[in-house]
Amino acid sequence: MILPKGREFTPAQLTEVTEIVGEFGCRIQPIIGALRSIYAIVGDERDELMMNRLEGLSFVERVDRIQSPFKLMDVRSDLARHAIQLGGVTLGRELCVIAGLCTIDPKNPNYFYETAAAVKEAGATALRGGVWKPRTNPYSFQGDDRSLDILMEGSRRTGLPVDAEVMDEHQLGLALAAGVPVLQVGARNALNYSLLQQIGRAIAGHGTVVLLKRSIHMGPINEFISAAEYIVSFGNPNVILCPRGTAPTLDGYRSHPDESIVPLLKERTWAPVIVDPSHSVGKASYVPAAALAAVAYGADGLCIESHVAPSHGIGDDPKQAITPEVLKTLIAKAREVWAVVRRK
Ligand code: PEP
Ligand code: MN
Repeated sequence: MILPKGREFTPAQLTEVTEIVGEFGCRIQPIIGALRSIYAIVGDERDELMMNRLEGLSFVERVDRIQSPFKLMDVRSDLARHAIQLGGVTLGRELCVIAGLCTIDPKNPNYFYETAAAVKEAGATALRGGVWKPRTNPYSFQGDDRSLDILMEGSRRTGLPVDAEVMDEHQLGLALAAGVPVLQVGARNALNYSLLQQIGRAIAGHGTVVLLKRSIHMGPINEFISAAEYIVSFGNPNVILCPRGTAPTLDGYRSHPDESIVPLLKERTWAPVIVDPSHSVGKASYVPAAALAAVAYGADGLCIESHVAPSHGIGDDPKQAITPEVLKTLIAKAREVWAVVRRK
């Protein structure tokens, strides 16, 4: 990873650096940070001569040689100073809560609009709404392109940024064209490297944020961080990690709750962590406790399914969405836990 002396390399400097690493079979991927840009060396960067030549350039401040499977996401990386903003909140400084429907019902858009207004009133910082849905049963409702308009209308009405899952290039194209600011990668696609690559390439140079769920099959911590690294390696550092419970399930819950991995993640990576307690425990009555536990473990935020009338919802909402009233109390308590945990 190359750190420039100035804010960023000039085109001539970038060409010079690119030529040097090219001689050693590597390429340069610029990563545009809020404070300054850094330049990742993609390829085998162990060659001493290459490193020495880079370090010898007058416009290079230093070349980081982090021995880590994820050089960009590592806590020691220069990118650790990168701050991600969501709905006016800087992640890590204030609790961030993404809340809303599991799945937008295109036949009943008012449930989404009413929920959007109510979760905003409850203190949510961003809005979620599934447009396209990964399903266990292929005959279940898989989503509808029309729900994208409903999602964006909810965003306009509330002024909140929205999060929706995309599962393929078609959905990615539509979501970006509509201006969806937070793209969710679901637990079933968390290791779908061709999707991660498509997303990484499509959002390079944009402010789009990715909410990357942890793979359902108890993916090792490093595998989770490396998947985030893969997206970031295309140039956009706005990736948030989202533990959401794993398989096999803890008897009685939908998944095996995994909010306890937050301190392990924090030890290895600077990436913000937003925990999803809804898919973890899978039942509305268990969600508040799991959410508070996540904040106690050091989560930077929560992603919670909420619905004004859960029994009228579709997807996961009838069983695991909490009402905005419950959400409001939960957010107030979560802020108290946050203050206790982060007190110096
Ligand atoms: C969802 O967020 O509604 C969802 C399907 O999540 P996951 O990919 O974690 O199962
Ligand atoms: Mn869901």
